[in-house]
Amino acid sequence: DVKVFERGAGIGGTWYWNRYPGARCDLESDSYSLSFNDEIEQEWNWTERYASQPEILRYVNFVADKLDVRGNIELNTTVTGAVFDEGTDTWTVTTDTGASARARYLVSATGILSVPSMPTFEGMDTFAGEIYHTGDWPHEGVDFTGKRVAVIGTGSSGIQSIPVIAEEAASVTVFQRTATFTVPAANRPMTENERKATKRSYKQLREQMRRSQVGVLLEPGIGNFADVDLRVVRGELERRWRGAGMSTSMVLSDNLRSIEANNYTSQFVRDKINEIVDDPAVAKLLEPHDYPIGTKRLALDTNYYDTYNRENVKLVSVRDTPIERFSPAGIVVGDTEYEFDAIVLATGFDAATGALERIQFEGVDGRTLTDAWAEGAKSYLGLAVEGFPNFFTVTGPGCPAILTNVIASIEHHVEWIADYITYMRAEGITRFEATPDAQAEWVKHVADMAAMTLYPTAASWYMGANVPGKPRVFLAYIGGLHNYRDRCDQLAADGYVGFAHASDGAPLKSEQLTVGA
Ligand code: NAP
Repeated sequence: DVKVFERGAGIGGTWYWNRYPGARCDLESDSYSLSFNDEIEQEWNWTERYASQPEILRYVNFVADKLDVRGNIELNTTVTGAVFDEGTDTWTVTTDTGASARARYLVSATGILSVPSMPTFEGMDTFAGEIYHTGDWPHEGVDFTGKRVAVIGTGSSGIQSIPVIAEEAASVTVFQRTATFTVPAANRPMTENERKATKRSYKQLREQMRRSQVGVLLEPGIGNFADVDLRVVRGELERRWRGAGMSTSMVLSDNLRSIEANNYTSQFVRDKINEIVDDPAVAKLLEPHDYPIGTKRLALDTNYYDTYNRENVKLVSVRDTPIERFSPAGIVVGDTEYEFDAIVLATGFDAATGALERIQFEGVDGRTLTDAWAEGAKSYLGLAVEGFPNFFTVTGPGCPAILTNVIASIEHHVEWIADYITYMRAEGITRFEATPDAQAEWVKHVADMAAMTLYPTAASWYMGANVPGKPRVFLAYIGGLHNYRDRCDQLAADGYVGFAHASDGAPLKSEQLTVGA
C-alpha cells in the first residue's frame, strides 16, 4: 500500500522541471532507462543516441501508464514535515495542501538535483526583463527571438542551453566564473537496426551495467600514465573525442588518481578548445584550469565551443571581477553595465541534501535532519540515517548514485528497500534504524575512498561547494556500483548488519510511503 506525494503538477522529476532549450541526457538512451520490465524495454523506441528532455518525459509517462501507478500519486503536493512516533513506529507526513498520511515506512525519492540554487545578486528584483532558472523552466517554453539574452553559469545546463539559445536570440552574453570541461556528445538518431540489436541484448547489457563501476558501460582506460606510450594515448583521446562521450576523459586509467595523468587529459581538451575557437583570447578564457578533468561532472555538448565563433555570442569572465549587481537594464560587472531583455540562471542546484533539508523531518527525540546534518550529511550506505527509524533515502548522500548512471542506482535502492521491507514484515519487525557505529564507519569509509582520488580537490557540487555556507563533505561513495551492490547484498544476507531492529510497534494497515515521483 503506497502513497506518493509529488510537488510537480506532473511526474518526471528532473525531466519535468528542466525544460531549458537543449536539455538532454548525458548518458545513452538504452542505458539511461529502466531495466525491470521486459515489456517496457521492448515496446519503447528511443529515437536518439542521447535522449532529449521531452522524449525522456514521454518515456516516464509511458512507464507510469504501463504500470498503472498514477492512482497512487498525489500531484501538486509539497511535503512540509514528517514526524516519527516512537509509540507506534510510524511516520506522520504533512503537506502544504493539508493532506497528510501516516505510514510505517517513509521513503524519500526527492532527487539529487531537484532544488535550484538561486544566486542572490543585489538588485535582482529591479531587473525589468525576465529571469529564468534552467532547473525551473516555464512549461510553455520561452521565445528568445530578437532578444538580448544573458546566461550566468557554464556547468552542464549552461553548456547545453547556450548553443540552442544562440540560434534564436539576437545576442547571447555568457557570464563564466569557472570554465568547465566538455566533450562532444556526437548525438545522432538511432537506427532501426541499432534499436533491434539493443532490444535483443538488453538482458546482458543490464547485467553488465549492474556489475560495472558507474552503472553504464564505458570504454576502459588503456593503462596508467607512467606505463603507456603517450602517442598511443593521444591517438586514443582523438578517437574518443569523436564520440565516446563520458569515456573520453578515461583513456588513462589513473586519470582520477594521478595529477600527471589528469594534466595530460586536461591539456588535450584545452588544445581542442584552441583548435575550435577562432579568437585566441576567447579560447584562453574557455580553457578550464581550476580543477582536474573528471572531478566535476564532465559535460557533453553539441557545438558548445563552436558557438563562441558566432557573431552574436560574447563571453564575459566573472572569475576575477564578479557580477556586482543586477540593474533595471541588466547586469553590472566592474565598470560595465550590460543590457538585456532576459537573464538565464544556469547556476545549478543545492545538490543531494537540498530537497531533504527543506522538509522538517523529526526523528527520535524530535531531532531534525537539519540538526543531524549540521556538520555535513551523514548516512549509512546513503540509504538510512541514524536517529531516523523506518526512513529510507533513495540516492541519499554517501551512496554511489551521483557518480553513476542514476537510474541504475535508483533501481538498486528500490529493490533493496523492497526486499528489506519484505524481510521485516516476515520477521514481525516494526522498526529499523541505522546504528551509530555502522553509520560512522560508513561515513569514514566514504571519506577515505574519496581522499584516495583527486575528487576533493575540486570545488564541486559533489562537495557541496557550490552553495554558500554548505558544509564541505564529499557526498558520494566512489567505490563503484558493483562493490556497493555486493556490500548491500552481503549485509542483507547476514541479517541486515548495521541496523537495529525492534518489534513493538502497533500493527498498521498502511505500511509504505514514498515522497517524490
Ligand atoms: P553546475 O554544474 O553547478 O553549474 C552552475 C554554474 O553556475 C557554474 O558554472 C557556476 O560557477 C555558476 N554560478 C553559480 N553561481 C554563480 C554566481 N553567483 N556567479 C557566477 N556564476 C555562478 O549546475 P548545472 O549546470 O545545472 O549542472 C548540475 C549537474 O546537473 C551536472 O553536474 C549534471 O550532473 C546534471 N546535469 C546533467 C545534464 C545532462 O544529463 N546532460 C544536464 C544538466 C545538468 P562555479 O563553477 O564557479 O561555481
